[in-house]
Amino acid sequence: MIPSKIIGIGLNYVKHIDEMKSIPQKEPVIFLKPNSSLHDITQPIPIPKNYGSVHHEIELAVCIGKAGSNIPVESAEDYIAGFGLALDLTLRDIQGKAKSAGLPWAIAKGFDHSCPVSSFVQKDSIKDYNNLNLKLIVNSNERQNSSTANMIFKVPFLIRYISQFFTLTEGDLIITGTPEGVGPLNEGDQIEASISDIAEIKTKII
Ligand code: MG
Repeated sequence: MIPSKIIGIGLNYVKHIDEMKSIPQKEPVIFLKPNSSLHDITQPIPIPKNYGSVHHEIELAVCIGKAGSNIPVESAEDYIAGFGLALDLTLRDIQGKAKSAGLPWAIAKGFDHSCPVSSFVQKDSIKDYNNLNLKLIVNSNERQNSSTANMIFKVPFLIRYISQFFTLTEGDLIITGTPEGVGPLNEGDQIEASISDIAEIKTKII
């Protein structure tokens, strides 16, 4: 199923906020990636070559199971179909310029193939989605290694917050933010990405 939208969350892990030299926000930072950015993560991932650095951000992806708006935190889990692994690929130089000019991040976050995702596992087969290890290795060097326990805004709160503004529909994806360790990718890089109980992926950058 092709999602109607992919909702990205920025600045949702304290140590990533530190490395970006950003400041924590009182409310979640929301952006959108078009569904044309989706890419099967098991297939080689093409990245843009002429627009500056492309950074990896490993993230827990939430797949929405039914439509809703203004969803209360207490029933938010009823709207989750399952979980997957996503890379929120980011044109970091372009994003930096947009940030300093106060302009949108649409190109930096939404270019073709900027949202590689794994297949999804059913919600009920995950014991505790608030305690999953996320790990990203590039060319045998560990870049990112953290836990969803370190998220600032947890998944039910994100569903409540997002659904105040955007009606969520079946198949929509929420990518819930990345922990520290983001960095550049280059053609030929070998990627190992895993989230415990969800996915263990080997892929490459082309
Ligand atoms: Mg991200």
